[in-house]
Amino acid sequence: MTRAWVEVDLGALCRNGAAIAARAGVPLLPMVKADGYGVGGLRAALALDALDPWGFGVSSAAEGQELRRAGITRPIIVFTPILRTEIDSLRRADLTPALGDPAVIESWGRTGRPWHLQIDTGMSRAGMPWHEVGTHRALLERTAPQGVFTHLHSAERRDDSRDQQEKRFAAALKELPEIPSIVHVENGAAVESRAPSPWTLCRPGIFLYGVSTVEGSPLVPEPVASIRGRIVELRTIAAGEAVSYEATWRAPSARRIATVPIGYADGYRRALSNRGIALVRGLRVKVVGIVTMDMTMLDVTDVEASLGDVVTLLGADGDDVITVSELAQLSGLSPYELLTGLARRLPRQYVDSTAEAAA
Ligand SMILES: *Cc1c(COP(=O)(O)O)cnc(C)c1O
Repeated sequence: MTRAWVEVDLGALCRNGAAIAARAGVPLLPMVKADGYGVGGLRAALALDALDPWGFGVSSAAEGQELRRAGITRPIIVFTPILRTEIDSLRRADLTPALGDPAVIESWGRTGRPWHLQIDTGMSRAGMPWHEVGTHRALLERTAPQGVFTHLHSAERRDDSRDQQEKRFAAALKELPEIPSIVHVENGAAVESRAPSPWTLCRPGIFLYGVSTVEGSPLVPEPVASIRGRIVELRTIAAGEAVSYEATWRAPSARRIATVPIGYADGYRRALSNRGIALVRGLRVKVVGIVTMDMTMLDVTDVEASLGDVVTLLGADGDDVITVSELAQLSGLSPYELLTGLARRLPRQYVDSTAEAAA
């Protein structure tokens, strides 16, 4: 019997992918980097393959190799800069690098394999600075990229940064000897806030995994990841008794306390101490006391709870849902950090809500 796990709804993942692709009106380049934002990169890619994406986006050669070993044959773009010493391992796994450094481009060019040119239009993280593209015209003529792209730093905001980045990108494209047939710019938030896409592919990430980052977005993703665990102990404590380290919480009256075997070592952050919430039989209960490494305590006085009952720390139960955004806000994290921080110690259990509904 599993005591604590992350449930991943692959049906919801695919419906989120289909929804954002429909809005963009262009094929997907789904980001399955960081092990699929924590839900499992390979499983996410295999599920999303049904949507006929152009390819997949990963963080590193190792992540790309995992997809290749599983038999995925679509293009896989490695989105963090590679060192020249990594060229051989990318080449052998048939991975496509995103490049911006002229020396690395020169070396990669000798492999004769496809690559995408990343243009830095204002994030100062990776890519060829937009104003330097013209300087490297000769190089880009010798070794033409298959695709060209940039990354928006604040697409979820309503400010002018996107327009400025897109202007810089357009200016850089004009400096290229030839505009590649594949041009991509938008992350999920960019598609949520503006559609259809004027480019050839879109690169959604967190939206696929059930999180909208745009206020008032026309698209509402379905939740994909849930954290669930079973009650492993129950006790009633008297008024004034403390719960957990440092005794930060004391029972205001006689209280029934449930212990769930999930703690900060599982990615259920310590910042949720005395702040987190959980669902028991579809009803909200509070985390009381400090979240410990392996266990978290809940005040279940007002609900029916027995040993072995499943508690939901993230996700839906009954008619209520604790969303990634809500939990991220409670823990003072970004939703990205919360999802990717779920530890491997929690086994991923894959379900397909479509299949269940049909059954
Ligand atoms: C992570 C990433 C994305 C996806 O971003 P989301 O905000 O998760 O939609 C797209 N493009 C690049 C280059 C990225 O690194």
